[in-house]
Amino acid sequence: MTVRVRFAPSPTGMFHVGGARSALQNWIYAKQQGGVFVLRIEDTDAARNKPEWTEGILSALDWIGISRGSYEGPYFQSENAGEHRAAAARLYESGRAYYCDCTREDVQARTGSQYQGYDGYHRDLGLGPGEGRALRFRTPDEGLTVVVDLIRGEPTFENKLIEDFVIARGDGSPVFLLANVVDDMTMGITHVIRAEEHLPNTPKQQLLWDALGVKPPVWAHVPVVVNEKRQKLSKRRDKVALEAYREEGYLSGAMRNYLMLLGWAPSGDREIVPWSVIEEEFRLEEVNPSPAFFDEKKLRAFNGEYIRALPVPEFIDACQPWLTGTGTIAPPPWQPEEYDADAFAAVAPLAQTRIAVLSEIVPNVDFLFLASPLIDEAAWTKTMKDGSAELLDEAVAAFEALESWDAESLKSTLEAVGTARGLKLGKTQAPVRVAVTGRTVGLPLFESLEVLGRERTLTRMRAARLRLV
Ligand code: GLU
Repeated sequence: MTVRVRFAPSPTGMFHVGGARSALQNWIYAKQQGGVFVLRIEDTDAARNKPEWTEGILSALDWIGISRGSYEGPYFQSENAGEHRAAAARLYESGRAYYCDCTREDVQARTGSQYQGYDGYHRDLGLGPGEGRALRFRTPDEGLTVVVDLIRGEPTFENKLIEDFVIARGDGSPVFLLANVVDDMTMGITHVIRAEEHLPNTPKQQLLWDALGVKPPVWAHVPVVVNEKRQKLSKRRDKVALEAYREEGYLSGAMRNYLMLLGWAPSGDREIVPWSVIEEEFRLEEVNPSPAFFDEKKLRAFNGEYIRALPVPEFIDACQPWLTGTGTIAPPPWQPEEYDADAFAAVAPLAQTRIAVLSEIVPNVDFLFLASPLIDEAAWTKTMKDGSAELLDEAVAAFEALESWDAESLKSTLEAVGTARGLKLGKTQAPVRVAVTGRTVGLPLFESLEVLGRERTLTRMRAARLRLV
């Protein structure tokens, strides 16, 4: 039997990191089993779907390595609507489903309590199809539904506790529970690997598989992803969109490595491992069923490691979207003609060891391209104290006298200016750094001054000096 898995996102919003995690797990499982990965877009909620969300899913999958053309699909759930309706009709005709026109209020009035599920009122009343009549599945009165789950063992549900749930609405349209099962059935899906949030649906869906006479798939419900307060990641509260991480300058390699660590770890004492190791070692059965903490700080640290591991030319290439403002990435503060690729290449190795996400490249190098630096006023006030004006005067004079404009000479020259005033190098550097780059932190100062050049450095130092009058 060929293993067939599917990833079945609904295009109702930005693509979620939890979805990316499930997609990768499906992808690896299919690969390990010599199986097929199917992409199905569950687009039947017409009110909430938008075509751009579908495009977002395809490009996000592409970004993390599930590239277009390398899987089966995408199929669209809406295209299978005829099958969904046919299955609903079969269940009705075989007596496994019945029509009901009760409202929630009707049930509540009958049971005299808060609505706690449908009471089975129409089970045997023989109501035929008609406008406004929902089709309900007749769940067995007794017995157990045992779900075979590769991660959770055998979660078992008592059938008598499962209400007669709706499978088609009053307008005849099948609901998610049924459409999802029918699609899996028609696509020959053997393993359903999906988020834990769907586990409550599973006994109902398995009953539908049984009632439609097809052997149910093997299930694997992967753990819910939570924030540091152990709350399920939510798009209102947390940064969940894969796209947001991409725009901030996370590398796809770091991201997919990190996502695979949610509830699982490779052998040995390592977390950062090549993708080929993950593909080889990952075992769905080893995924921890407990909620998985999405630790953004750890992801950031991971990303920094991935950035540092890039060969310099690749790092330079990877920075380009932030240096030019490509696609949805905001343009940098300088004009395109102010950008100088050679100057960037000269400082790139220094920046590479200091940034954790690629977007941080911009504030680190903007001083090189802008005609005058963007002065951080708080940094200015904190740094430019009594004595800064004189210090700048002396530094300008000493720099003007330099024969060779290189980092080493600049350093020893400024150090001497500081020593004469009883200052350590750090204190001496600070006003020069703020004058030239506008900030208190950044790339190593003397290398920066070397690349910036004599003219521009001295002009900025003189301008800062004038501001201190
Ligand atoms: N469309 C469903 C969702 O996005 C997935 C259902 C499933 O994987 O079975 O939550």
